Amino acid sequence: MSQRRPFVAGNWKMNGARAQAAALIDGILAGVSALGDAEVAVCPPFILIPLVAEKLRSTRGRVLWGGQNLDTHPSGAYTGEISGPMLRDFDCTYVIVGHSERRSFYGESDAIVAEKFAAAQAAGLVPILCLGETLAEREADETERVVERQLRAVLDRSGVESLARATIAYEPVWAIGTGRTATPQQAQDVHRFIRARLADKSAAVAAGMRLLYGGSVKGANARELFAQPDIDGGLIGGASLQAEEFLAICRAAG
Ligand code: PEP
Repeated sequence: MSQRRPFVAGNWKMNGARAQAAALIDGILAGVSALGDAEVAVCPPFILIPLVAEKLRSTRGRVLWGGQNLDTHPSGAYTGEISGPMLRDFDCTYVIVGHSERRSFYGESDAIVAEKFAAAQAAGLVPILCLGETLAEREADETERVVERQLRAVLDRSGVESLARATIAYEPVWAIGTGRTATPQQAQDVHRFIRARLADKSAAVAAGMRLLYGGSVKGANARELFAQPDIDGGLIGGASLQAEEFLAICRAAG
């Protein structure tokens, strides 16, 4: 049986203002005693992190928080950017790197994602590294090649031992925000593949790696996905904006 503690992280994306964020966190806090065993984190937009951090401190680590992105540099003349040390200053534990929306809308290459991964760890953050293929790539039977290439960029930059201080989220791009979830078997197949590629480098890192699935996870489909042997939780977008739905997903993981 796996020793890996399940993990559910919410990616709020560019949603919410102060009032909605406060209500959402209050909703999560109302259900915190029945969360189950899973580790839980939320990743709000940067500007809402202070508010969220202030409220979640009362959970004493039961619900953690993180950023959705960071710059590759720790500080300097990079107008409009936010760095890893800035996120740590607000007690972020996690930061998402390489989300498909960053890769496709903001031109983040595998090399940039690998730099961001390294910058996150240098700042003491735990990166949640997103990997995943587009629909065209899946239909061309290129899923494994794409995911392996994305993973290799980080392995080459930071080494396999760095992955012991990270989480990986497999997020097929065609399943993100589309309502079209990968079947549990489709997700499991890619998760098993990712774990095997890690095992090529380090059996210990592969065995300890928490591999999250992301892509239209809801309360109704979470249990079946999380029951797969290589799926250790989820990265949740849309459904993390509703407290009840997010709590149901956390319970399914726990
Ligand atoms: C995501 O943005 O990481 C995600 C998985 O989104 P959704 O759950 O809305 O598909």
